[in-house]
Amino acid sequence: MRVLVTGGAGFLGSHLIDRLMKQGNDVICLDNFFTGHKRNISHWMDNPYFELIRHDITEPIRLEVDQIYHLACPASPVHYQYNPVKTIKTNVLGTLNMLGLAKRVKARFLLASTSEVYGDPDVHPQPEEYRGNVNTIGIRSCYDEGKRVAETLAFDYHRQNNVDIRVMRIFNTYGPRMFENDGRVVSNFIVQALKGIPLTVYGDGSQTRSFCYVADLIEGMMRLMNGEHTGPINIGNPGEYTILQLAETIQKMVNPDSELTFKPLPQDDPLQRQPDITKAKNLLGWEPKIDLEEGLKMTIEDFRSRIERGEA
Ligand code: NAD
Ligand code: UDP
Ligand code: UDP
Repeated sequence: MRVLVTGGAGFLGSHLIDRLMKQGNDVICLDNFFTGHKRNISHWMDNPYFELIRHDITEPIRLEVDQIYHLACPASPVHYQYNPVKTIKTNVLGTLNMLGLAKRVKARFLLASTSEVYGDPDVHPQPEEYRGNVNTIGIRSCYDEGKRVAETLAFDYHRQNNVDIRVMRIFNTYGPRMFENDGRVVSNFIVQALKGIPLTVYGDGSQTRSFCYVADLIEGMMRLMNGEHTGPINIGNPGEYTILQLAETIQKMVNPDSELTFKPLPQDDPLQRQPDITKAKNLLGWEPKIDLEEGLKMTIEDFRSRIERGEA
């Protein structure tokens, strides 16, 4: 099968490409390298079944493919808030172009949506039916509302043009290959602990997140793509931790002498987040297998070796 992965040079995209290439697919990676890096896919560059195209998805492109995994969009608040208008263009114009492409070539289309469509949730844990509590005018809105429009576009192309869609709501995911300067909490804490600088806890650290290991997430993504259900379907690990618990866990695992420092809580930072994965279990036969300590161990090892090689 010929498979297009937008955002394929990023964290999740590059792990997905590894799986797709090992399965024997013909893979096209489309990326503008805003937050992605060639290093993540360099091991496939000489493979004749792999093709890399530097392209910004806010511009149209014509390709012939059977499936589209649409992941292109910065995912960390630091990056998506750097140029919020561009984030909206990527989610709206970029998703429109990729759906236009899917319509033209009759490709199946999977949207990497997000738990952020639930905003600062007042229903806990979050099932897919929950419609969310999102601020339309805050600093996270470019991403949250951008993804909500992307979901709407996918369902309208489905109803209006029969595009075969899959919508996946991804919850916080971590693992090897996260960028050292990505700004997300797991990478920040690990790099800080390894470098012996204080771990930056925002607010009092009582806000919660549920962290999924990347290999589990990619398995869920591929099951959704190749299954029969359009979604939206939550994919994430229901194990819920406060940010303070996460800091203390990483501190204990990397460097018990490292210190914690408290910084102001960013505006609109959701207080709690946990996926209800009943649908993923029942419809896809999927559930995460790797618990937080096991996943953190593999992630810490990856960061440690990158720091030793001078790459982080
Ligand atoms: P990432 O930032 O590592 O990767 C995103 C990739 O998209 C990068 O390679 C970047 O260069 C590329 N990109 C951005 N804008 C582009 C554009 N206009 N044209 C072409 N390429 C562009 O992020 P990630 O963690 O791999 O996330 C991938 C997808 O999954 C995103 O759509 C994100 O919203 C979604 N998601 C991720 C998480 C998570 O925890 N990692 C959670 C929820 C949703
Ligand atoms: N598009 C694209 N590649 C294609 C087909 C379409 O980039 O192979 C873009 C197209 O330029 C348009 C968007 O996708 O901006 C939506 O396409 P659609 O055909 O749905 O709408 P229209 O072109 O009629 O506005
Ligand atoms: N966070 C933190 N220290 C950091 C980075 C993030 O305490 O160095 C907090 C952040 O305020 C949020 C949680 O960790 O409550 C998760 O942040 P992240 O940016 O990883 O993801 P998101 O907020 O999009 O879920």
